[in-house]
Amino acid sequence: MAESIDLEISNQSSTTVDPNPAPSAIRESEWLLQTVVENLNDGVVITNLQDQVMYVNSRLAKLVGCSVAEMLGKPAHHFFHAIEGWFDFQGASEEAQPFYGWKEGQLRRKDGRKFWAEVNATLLCNATGGATGTLITVKDITERKWLEEYLRLLESVVVNANEIVMISQLEESIDDPLSLRIIYVNDAFSRTTGYSSGEAIGKSALVLLGDKTSSSEVARIRSTLKAFEPVRAEVILYRKSETHFWVDVNMVPIRNEQGQVTHFVSVMREVTERKIVEEQLRRNAFHDSLTGLPNRLLFMERLSQTVDRTKEDKSYRFALLFLDLDRFKVINDSLGHMIGDQLLIAIARRLEACLNQHDTVARLGGDEFTILLENIQQDSDATKIAERVQQALSTPFNLDGHEVFTSASIGITLSSTEFDRPEDLLRGADIAMYRAKAHGKACHEVFDTDMHTHVVALMQLENDLRRAVERQDFELYYQPIVALATGQIMGFEALVRWLHPEQGIISPGKFVPIAEETGLIIPLGQWVLREACRQLKQWQDEFASEPPLSISVNLSSRQFSQPSLINQIRQILTDTGVDAHCLKLEITESAIMENTESAMDMLLQLKAMGIQLSVDDFGTGYSSLGYLYRFPMDVLKIDQSFVSRVDVDGEKLELVRTIITLAWNLGMDVVAEGVETTKQLAQLKALKCEYAQGYLFSKPLTRTDAAKLIPKSYPFLHLTRISPSNSRLAEDV
Ligand code: C2E
Ligand code: MG
Ligand code: MG
Repeated sequence: MAESIDLEISNQSSTTVDPNPAPSAIRESEWLLQTVVENLNDGVVITNLQDQVMYVNSRLAKLVGCSVAEMLGKPAHHFFHAIEGWFDFQGASEEAQPFYGWKEGQLRRKDGRKFWAEVNATLLCNATGGATGTLITVKDITERKWLEEYLRLLESVVVNANEIVMISQLEESIDDPLSLRIIYVNDAFSRTTGYSSGEAIGKSALVLLGDKTSSSEVARIRSTLKAFEPVRAEVILYRKSETHFWVDVNMVPIRNEQGQVTHFVSVMREVTERKIVEEQLRRNAFHDSLTGLPNRLLFMERLSQTVDRTKEDKSYRFALLFLDLDRFKVINDSLGHMIGDQLLIAIARRLEACLNQHDTVARLGGDEFTILLENIQQDSDATKIAERVQQALSTPFNLDGHEVFTSASIGITLSSTEFDRPEDLLRGADIAMYRAKAHGKACHEVFDTDMHTHVVALMQLENDLRRAVERQDFELYYQPIVALATGQIMGFEALVRWLHPEQGIISPGKFVPIAEETGLIIPLGQWVLREACRQLKQWQDEFASEPPLSISVNLSSRQFSQPSLINQIRQILTDTGVDAHCLKLEITESAIMENTESAMDMLLQLKAMGIQLSVDDFGTGYSSLGYLYRFPMDVLKIDQSFVSRVDVDGEKLELVRTIITLAWNLGMDVVAEGVETTKQLAQLKALKCEYAQGYLFSKPLTRTDAAKLIPKSYPFLHLTRISPSNSRLAEDV
């Protein structure tokens, strides 16, 4: 290989050599030098002044892809295919000046492949200082270049990322075992935080974490980082401008070759917008949209926390106030929903003003509000607050030019009651509120043990009712409806009774409200309808009359709002073979008014089937008569409260007269309910009321007893002069 070349050694090289060496010593040092040069990691080439390769080591030959023999004596620039215009030294062109010094660039191998090289060219001189050639060393730096390029690419990814990237270094600190100094931040960091990288570098990595993130979350983050575990968290950071923003942060520990954590890389994404939406959704879920007050859900959550607290601290006292406005319906109906809404908002603000910051006032819905009084000293504090609330509400509200007066009935449960379930506490306050209403409104009532006993009994009844509905422990009683002109029984009203295994017969007034509240009215009502129709068909077959007997069935508001009702009724009529014209459905005014939107549709469908519709208990609900014009009702049943006073109260008599006239004008039939005396009957006949129902004729009867009445009817009614003293006609029949 290179042994054939006589090396001329430059001045610098010879300084390390003996100035008068013996020939054998020269040979030896030559050989030594050559061995060193051959084993260098760098390529070495020596040229003469004519650019001819005088010496080349095998490393260089390998780098350029030639053999040593191939290169010797050839012009050096043949092997250093210059690219990118820099490798002109040693006469790449005739005029080119030799290049001396250090350069970095790409060289091409013989086969055309490129590699990165660091090239050093030094002028070689002889002992007298005359130039003899050039020493060129070539280092392959392809791998380093590749690494640099790779890092550059990686950096540009990080720099341009939308995510915020922050690298921090773990430092030893006596004060804080978790001392993290920022050493790098990307552009997104500066854009989002407002801190330039110069301002950020050197600061603590936790500097942006102000006081808004919950302390428990900060503690969790710190302890996870201390354990050198990766952390994923949502935290609130501060910008330079002191505004805050939410980020989803991922902090990962980076270990050195020895496995020790030296750095943390944090990648963060701003999630402020998402957090705002989440917050709005949370607010929606837990607050009443009209007043902005907490809603039932949030109130019950707070109540439950307070109840838990009393379990831990027996001396802790609280009270729950249940408020219901006394005349809200009237205000809403007379002044309209807009004013009604304004009133609710104004009341919410006044209630807030009556309370301490740690108390909760919520709107449960409609005109019902609840207040949770925390940490009261004595029970009388609760009644004092109730009085304060009533006082606050007694000042009239000025709403859109209307002066509106209102008051509230308040029920109170104290933490000293035996309830420990939040729903029972609320129910207790609700019951006490109804007591307050019964006591003349605008007052408050504290839930007591009597009421407690009552509630417990009620809960028991609810359980029993559930079982009764499953076992169908009910019976229908029938009360005749009589045509006053002829005394003929036109039909019956079906009235349900509960046959309780221990308590005997229970009247619907006691259990229908519970059935409504629990939804049990749906299966129960269906049973009633089927049973009543089945019975009617049997009687019609047995006692033919003209017109045929009819059956009146009560429908509760809950049933009435069931869209499947129509199909259920259709099925029952088909199954029992009853003509739809013989079925009368009794609906109260409130059931219609509570469902006004769907009511019309439902009523029209029932009407289209041929079913007759009665307004039950007319006069007890809404004072508005407008709905009578709007809804397709056939029968108006005047409530017993009017009928019972028609014989003693002139004003009531006039009212009944007006109602009857009104009904006629609308083409409706009138039934007087609860007729008990002959005097009442006489008055009703005088008013030309067509139909009546009441104890005077018959109490509701079992189906066997009712069947006995049908053939008899009351033929004497239009013949007999009724004596006022004869109060119980039914007994004469
Ligand atoms: P309602 O529909 O107004 O029925 C008339 C109520 O007045 C019946 O009470 C009846 O026994 C009573 N009554 C009839 N004549 C007289 C009288 O001359 N004097 C007095 N003081 N009362 C009289 P009942 O059977 O206790 O039913 C009470 C209410 O329960 C009914 O009032 C009705 O609203 C409801 N109800 C009864 N059965 C059902 C049913 O199957 N389904 C639904 N949803 N409600 C029902
Ligand atoms: Mg009825
Ligand atoms: Mg009635």
